[in-house]
Amino acid sequence: MSWIDDPAFAADKPFGPQTLPYGVVETAEGPAVAVRVGDHALPLRPLADEFTAELAELVAADSLDPLLAAGRPAWSALRARLIELVTATAAPDGAVLLPLSETATRLPFTVGDYVDFYSSRNHAENVGRIFRPDGEAVFPNWSHLPVGYNGRSGTVVVSGTDVERPHGQRKGDDGPVFGPSTRLDIEAEIGFVCGGPVARRVSTSAAPDHVFGVVTVNDWSARDIQAWEYVPLGPHLGKSFATSIGAWITPLEAFAAARVAVPDPGHPRQDYLVEDSHWGLDIHLQVFWNGTLVSKPDFAGMAFSFAQQLAHMTVNGATVRPGDLFASGTISGPEKHQRGSFLELSWGGKEPITLDDGAERSFLLDGDTIVITATAPGPDGSVIGLSEVAGTILAAGD
Ligand code: CA
Repeated sequence: MSWIDDPAFAADKPFGPQTLPYGVVETAEGPAVAVRVGDHALPLRPLADEFTAELAELVAADSLDPLLAAGRPAWSALRARLIELVTATAAPDGAVLLPLSETATRLPFTVGDYVDFYSSRNHAENVGRIFRPDGEAVFPNWSHLPVGYNGRSGTVVVSGTDVERPHGQRKGDDGPVFGPSTRLDIEAEIGFVCGGPVARRVSTSAAPDHVFGVVTVNDWSARDIQAWEYVPLGPHLGKSFATSIGAWITPLEAFAAARVAVPDPGHPRQDYLVEDSHWGLDIHLQVFWNGTLVSKPDFAGMAFSFAQQLAHMTVNGATVRPGDLFASGTISGPEKHQRGSFLELSWGGKEPITLDDGAERSFLLDGDTIVITATAPGPDGSVIGLSEVAGTILAAGD
């Protein structure tokens, strides 16, 4: 039996020894790299003597940046050693467990470039039908390449950070009007944190060596600003004010039992998008609006895997660097209760959602809190957890 006395640190719980996500916590000695064990954080700097010199230097840092740069062999060696340490019967010398409820987390790495994709067919069809009722819902390029855009990395924030309602232009009856967004929305997504050597033209088979881990993402979206500005160049100020990510990054290695094939597109793929092994992921998300479970999107239906997205992102010669982040695109399934945005859940505001307290919502009101959680199947019937991404809406500032 492990020395870690926490009922949430068990194989049938999302944050047992099969998961071990990494984050950065505030400690009396400053920010520290830590792993999540159940409902506790285990800072690694006090355990430096338990690792090789190379790994000790990585875990003694005050962010995950050195670990992200170190690459797959170091990631695997660290994870293997951590599994030994957290499943041992005796605590290593100097180990301190911090309750998550009393521990502040910070953005765990320096976000490099940020790309957001659009790889859910159901989401693309729903948005197309709402935004362009008289046009084609999905354009012909969509099934041949992972459509995406380059986003704004400087406004990626960690779970728990409040989000101020953005100002912007929207379409009015007599021309554009300016003011706080009146159609503020979420997008439930999965994000991929890059690491390893700087590379270009990454193949689908090499992609896992450039992806350190997986996080939950909420791509906050101002639909009124977006609908007015997006023609013809795509998302800009309707998205760039904030993107939230979970505080703990679940290592890609933890998803070995969750790998599935992406759906067959029904036509040949360009060679650089062909996968020689499956990198779709069987991740199940839950979206809570002020505590009410309003949606349960499934990631397995996404049309492109992270390996295909990374191959596409770099096929033109653009580099991928440690700290780059890319997100999947809103995850929506075919059923209403699987829609990953409120634009879709309320069908453009025409079908409001009733929360458990009786309140009705189509879009976010000031003070609303959104929490997105996710799990995936782990080895031997265990559960892999992705840490929650939470955020509360503040009133627009002056
Ligand atoms: Ca998005």
